[in-house]
Amino acid sequence: MTCQKCATRQILQENELICPKCNGIEFLPKDVALSVAQAQINWFDNGFKQVLGKFIKRRLLVWLFGYREKIASTFFTEKPSIELSKFIAVNLLIKRVMEDYDVDGDDEANEKNTPELIDLFAGFVRIAERKFLIEEDLGHYISKSSFDLKSIDKDRLMSNFSFRINEDYVPILESFEDNLIMNEDSAKAFFEVHKAEYERINKSKPVPTERTPEETIQILFPTLLAFYGALTKNKLYAETFNLQYLKDVKISPQFILSFIKKFGQQTGLMTQTNSHEFKRAVRVYFKELDKNIVYDNLVFSKDNKQVFPFFLNVDNHLLITHNFIRLMGLFYYPMYYDSEFKKEIDKHSMIFEKTMVPEKLREQGFTLIQNYTDKKQASLEIDNIAWKGNTLYVIETKVWDIKPYFEHRRIHYHRERDLKGVVDGKKYTYLKGSETVTDIVSLLDKIKHVQDNLSQICKDAKMITTIKGVVITKSHPTIQEYKEVKFIGFSHLNTL
Ligand SMILES: [Zn+2]
Repeated sequence: MTCQKCATRQILQENELICPKCNGIEFLPKDVALSVAQAQINWFDNGFKQVLGKFIKRRLLVWLFGYREKIASTFFTEKPSIELSKFIAVNLLIKRVMEDYDVDGDDEANEKNTPELIDLFAGFVRIAERKFLIEEDLGHYISKSSFDLKSIDKDRLMSNFSFRINEDYVPILESFEDNLIMNEDSAKAFFEVHKAEYERINKSKPVPTERTPEETIQILFPTLLAFYGALTKNKLYAETFNLQYLKDVKISPQFILSFIKKFGQQTGLMTQTNSHEFKRAVRVYFKELDKNIVYDNLVFSKDNKQVFPFFLNVDNHLLITHNFIRLMGLFYYPMYYDSEFKKEIDKHSMIFEKTMVPEKLREQGFTLIQNYTDKKQASLEIDNIAWKGNTLYVIETKVWDIKPYFEHRRIHYHRERDLKGVVDGKKYTYLKGSETVTDIVSLLDKIKHVQDNLSQICKDAKMITTIKGVVITKSHPTIQEYKEVKFIGFSHLNTL
């Protein structure tokens, strides 16, 4: 909500929304903020080149692969959360180290300096992400003291600027929490509450070969949705984890997941093989695929740097990390089986509209008419009419799940427009990149219809003094109110 005094967009400071204007906080102009972020990125980049130059690359790559496997194993065995900035950092770092593979160094990677390096690189990723958020008008830089970007020294370049997100980013953060993509603390709390449920999911082994893609999508839907949303949340993530090239050569998640089973998994360790054995396994067990195509698209090496590092080959030591591959397989499901995934999303939308919302309303003591249709005008349908005491609500439901590029403002403009469209009677649909607008019965007309026909519709009509329109959304709505219609997220339904 904008500031009540001056209508300025608020910012998040120490977990509270405050008005920058009323508190005398001045942002750097957007173009200056972007230059600062770019200067910080350049500085990090240079520093990293020097640090990485000192390492023996082969050893470092093996350690990074091991660390990545540890993150994935923790996800499957301990708690269902992933620190996204570390997860992307380790993958970017693997690609980065391979770039400089031939730059010789003497330092050996070990269990101490590898995580330190990843932490440092995660800091770099966070600054790159800040730049996106500033570009998207979701974040701002504040300068602690005056500066000249040309002559500023390194320490001040890093310490002189603090970053704040604004209120528009808050619903995005909350939607991610709803979808299980969260920071360490909230993950722990969540895990305590849902422990039994998680253990059950965990025991139903992800993706055994006998399940069809439809069944897998059905069983693991929340996890798949969460991963997919997280690893495509902005341009940096979407590019890093882009697996479209695999889809183009018809390498499926099901193949990847059953392929790795041909190699034994040693708990907590990486499995080692070589390129000959790798190709032999494809040739023997997966006759429909070309072993060289599989190899060239999945095995990352000095001579094959453009692919995503699923498998690593250094000096003909080919490393297989089972849990990481399982995790990436899950992420790849919605991308590969996109129409099956869309069907499941639609199914969940129906459940939300027909079951979850009505149940919750009844729990709160409302009397309900579900799926009301006007006998004279069949196009006038109302998801729910609910009343309690002297107030009656005319309710529409709207599902808005996280989706790729969720952190990009374009997505949220669409979202806000779609929500207003419910009130105004406009429906926006996209087909193959082009958009059409259809006129539908507006929520305002539906409210009027209920007002005009109250005694026929509501058996407690005599008690009703107020009739209001409400839109209930699955994740957090981007606007709170429009033309006196309220927008309420499902988790806040008890405020009705
Ligand atoms: Zn203000």
